[in-house]
Amino acid sequence: MSDPADFPGGIRVLVAGAAGRMGREVVRAVAAAEDMLLVGAVDRSHQGEDAGTLAGVGEVGVAIEGDLAEAIAARLPEVMVDFTLPDSAPGNIEAALRRGVSPVVGTTGLGAPELERIGALCAETGVPALVAPNFAVGAVLMMEFAARAARHLPDVEIIELHHDRKLDSPSGTAMLTAARIAAARGRPTARQPSGAVERAPGARGAQADGVHIHSVRLPGLVAHQEVIFGGPGQTLTLRHDSLDRASFMPGVLLGIRRVRELSGLVVGLESLLD
Ligand code: NAP
Repeated sequence: MSDPADFPGGIRVLVAGAAGRMGREVVRAVAAAEDMLLVGAVDRSHQGEDAGTLAGVGEVGVAIEGDLAEAIAARLPEVMVDFTLPDSAPGNIEAALRRGVSPVVGTTGLGAPELERIGALCAETGVPALVAPNFAVGAVLMMEFAARAARHLPDVEIIELHHDRKLDSPSGTAMLTAARIAAARGRPTARQPSGAVERAPGARGAQADGVHIHSVRLPGLVAHQEVIFGGPGQTLTLRHDSLDRASFMPGVLLGIRRVRELSGLVVGLESLLD
């Protein structure tokens, strides 16, 4: 792996999915970070265009390229940030790891088999990686609070709400929240009275780890989640709203700064928060 001291301009970062909604936000954030240098940008669309111009921060002298492996070989990044698609991210992560580049992955929809494979590749290559289904610090805290509340109020349902172009459902954050709740409360509740009828299929939502999850997709939304706990005579609602994609950037920048100190694959931003 390259030594950061070799690159006085800062941590060398390549963004995969640089023309997407999140990718453009990452380009803006990295370009503005004094300790980072945007060296590469990869996407299937907008090839040849300047990544900074596309992201609305003016020319940065980094053209969007189509081939990740070639871009890594030519631009020598230390960290690859991936905000692409669930089908594309595993191949990108493997390409990065095999070339000694640490991935910081925000793409959601990666299941247990993909994470297992990424973990094995990290072990094989000795290159660490960070995968975080939610880089918003507030959302990470919401998951922590939800796990704490579930110890005392085990009956709980999740409503997650996202923009109408989101491909995967339930959201990665909702899946991770359900897993954390299940681990904390130790038993599924997911109650149904006997004789319960679902008049429209799916009316009670999906179930993950024994927790009901309801997915809402509407234009105008960004990323939101409510975790509603119920107990005799009381409810407790935890809600987090990402009102703008900028909400994810402090977490992404923290991931870029810290990923190379990690050991193997780390899932979730919480292990990087003090
Ligand atoms: P988007 O606007 O569709 O952007 C994805 C971009 O990646 C598109 O430009 C796409 O090109 C490109 N792409 C696809 N495959 C590629 C590949 N193999 N190499 C390079 N580029 C590729 O989606 P988005 O809203 O930015 O979201 C991206 C991902 O981030 C989603 O999985 C979303 O759920 C996730 N997300 C995570 C967080 C978090 O905090 N972890 C927050 C928000 C969103 P085409 O247009 O040609 O397909």
